Amino acid sequence: MNILLHVCCGPCSIFPTKSLTEQGKTFTLYFFNPNIHPYKEFRRRLNTLREYCDFRHYQLIVDKSYPLEETLRGMLNEPVVRCAYCYRVRLEQAARYAREHGYDAFSSTLLVSPYQKHDLIRRTGEEMGKKYGIPFFYQDFRKGYQEGVAISLELEMYRQPYCGCIFSERDRYEPRKRKPAVSSQKQEK
Ligand code: SF4
Repeated sequence: MNILLHVCCGPCSIFPTKSLTEQGKTFTLYFFNPNIHPYKEFRRRLNTLREYCDFRHYQLIVDKSYPLEETLRGMLNEPVVRCAYCYRVRLEQAARYAREHGYDAFSSTLLVSPYQKHDLIRRTGEEMGKKYGIPFFYQDFRKGYQEGVAISLELEMYRQPYCGCIFSERDRYEPRKRKPAVSSQKQEK
């Protein structure tokens, strides 16, 4: 099975890629994250990921699209929670790319974080899979989150202190929102 693995950042790619390798699956990483603000941070996370992929000899495809106005508008207009827009845009692009380029399935490293809205990511991935006619490869990578953190620290990788958007950058200063929550709250990766 040849999987297009959407990747949000270097540290979050560690466990999913390790796990897929152990399962004998072939994968290519696909970076598309216009949600990362400001642009300097976007560049920094991308550079960290590039270094990690070089180190591991992973194949990486980068889409540097950065529609800032559209992204902020989309997040602000999302009726219930801004992350729904954020997941949809990224997973839709990954599904489209995977379909157009002959992959067998697509997935996302977003599934590794205990701070993300895991069920929403899964649902959105499956919806996008149906829309583009390509399976969403689901695996609960969260059990390997701490292992990924440990490896990233060992390798002295840059670890970002907030999830990505400018709203999450603000939220990290609010103690109430910093409390870790395993399944639904989202603060930082
Ligand atoms: S908190 Fe994270 S997942 Fe949610 S909208 Fe911001 S960048 Fe996207």
